Amino acid sequence: MAHAVKELFPDTKLAIGPAIADGFYYDFDSSHAFTQEDLPKIEEKMKELIKANKPFVRKELPRDEAIKFFRERGEMYKVELINEITDGTVSLYEEDGFVDLCRGPHLESTGKVKAFKLLSVAGAYWRGDEKNRMLQRIYGVSFPTKDELKKHLDFLEEVKKRDHRRLGKELDLFSMNDDIGAGLVLWHPRGATIRRAIENFWLEEHFKAGYQILYTPHMAKLDLWKKTGHLDFYRENMYSPMEIEGLEYEIKPMNCPFHVSIYKSRLRSYRDLPLRFAELGTVYRYERSGVLHGLLRVRGFTQDDAHIFCREDQIEDEVLKVLEFTLFILQTFGFSDYDIYLSTRPEKYVGADDAWKKATDALEKALAHKGLQFEIDPGEGVFYGPKIDIKVRDSLGRQWQCSTIQVDFNIPERLNITYRGSDSKDSGPIMIHRALMGSLERFFGVLIEHYAGAFPLWLAPVQISLLTISERHVEYCRKVFEALIREGIRVDIDEENEKIGYKIRKATVLKTPYMCIIGDKEMESSAVNLRKRNGENIGEMTVEKLIAFLKDEISNRR
Ligand code: ZN
Repeated sequence: MAHAVKELFPDTKLAIGPAIADGFYYDFDSSHAFTQEDLPKIEEKMKELIKANKPFVRKELPRDEAIKFFRERGEMYKVELINEITDGTVSLYEEDGFVDLCRGPHLESTGKVKAFKLLSVAGAYWRGDEKNRMLQRIYGVSFPTKDELKKHLDFLEEVKKRDHRRLGKELDLFSMNDDIGAGLVLWHPRGATIRRAIENFWLEEHFKAGYQILYTPHMAKLDLWKKTGHLDFYRENMYSPMEIEGLEYEIKPMNCPFHVSIYKSRLRSYRDLPLRFAELGTVYRYERSGVLHGLLRVRGFTQDDAHIFCREDQIEDEVLKVLEFTLFILQTFGFSDYDIYLSTRPEKYVGADDAWKKATDALEKALAHKGLQFEIDPGEGVFYGPKIDIKVRDSLGRQWQCSTIQVDFNIPERLNITYRGSDSKDSGPIMIHRALMGSLERFFGVLIEHYAGAFPLWLAPVQISLLTISERHVEYCRKVFEALIREGIRVDIDEENEKIGYKIRKATVLKTPYMCIIGDKEMESSAVNLRKRNGENIGEMTVEKLIAFLKDEISNRR
């Protein structure tokens, strides 16, 4: 690609062009502003070079000579790169007069390239530093066979179709705008309905699993965050404090200290433990505007947070319970494929090394007990403790980080909380921080893409649409509507004076799981005719049967 670009746009300077997880790119400095329209031209030139089947020849030069070589050619980015190489010699590859700095290895010749496609153009700062010059990056992908390339391009097409930002708009689920501010989410009625269905499920299952729920404020005195260590270890993710009556307050980046405060509000005995406090807690974290991305990376979000306070002898059992609970919740949303990571002590941390070891061992034991395979993620723990991260794979096989389980010996000590033991002595409890879905915003983004906006019945904002064929069916249709809504079914009614085909299309675009078309036949037999959003006809049934049918599917969370 770089050779083709040089042929077509000779004044272009070459920066760097690595292989990446999803293909390759090359950064260029050129007087020509590349657009999507240039890509086919570059591809044509690449095909010519491939057809010529010229060999890639490796040359090794002393560093000084290589610098001289690239300087003479005006390739100053290459000179800068070589200046940083400490080896005495550097390797170059030459192909039909085109020379590039490269460690190799390479294919034998251009003819070995079998299937490729240039995908997009984007701006990129030299070395990723916004103080440097803005370069132009061209992304591409290459495969050994045309079939594999086609499969990948189809996958990219599917990814685009499922983009939660696009579906969020099409399905009227959420929005973000400049008046409110970057990374702050507005949940529209249809999105909020889905969120409430998730929250209801969350609440119901947490009560069953022995959790108690809390509500806590969105800010607290700055002093609190000093005590917890957040100010020392988490400051770059926190907003500037605000002043109220001469005291500094901070908007919360985490819920933990509030839960600790409630723990501390009364004397706790060893018999009270474990105490499981859960909250859908909204937090605010500073993320640079450049990394914000739809619902996946935001500044204000609600965690499905919980803190379990337990004795040391209860850790393993509690972690095990959380693991099982997490997997159950994830499976309900159709995530049966996941990868587990154990993240160990980071560079910046609080607490004693033996406490870290104990906590890490506890997590490892629980994983082993469940027979779960996991990988170690070195240094990726939180400042107060190690953690287990569960990354789910969605229906396209993409990996998403959602759940996290963290064992913490440190914050309880820093905030000085205790329980009275059976020997009447006070000891410090251990705190397990956990979020199963992570943040509701991010989880919602992942769900939209996972389901491609076609939510299962129990989550769908509108579960069934009633479509009248003509004016004279409206009265009967409203009766059906009343019967369904009384049963808690989310139903809407389309009694507009439009053709039935158009009404079906409208409901299909919104991915409403079911529709009932109501005409003369249905009215005469006091029945409905049910069809699925994919067009499959289920047939005629009474309203009672319809209610039972829908309720069954809803309660099974399908
Ligand atoms: Zn926490």
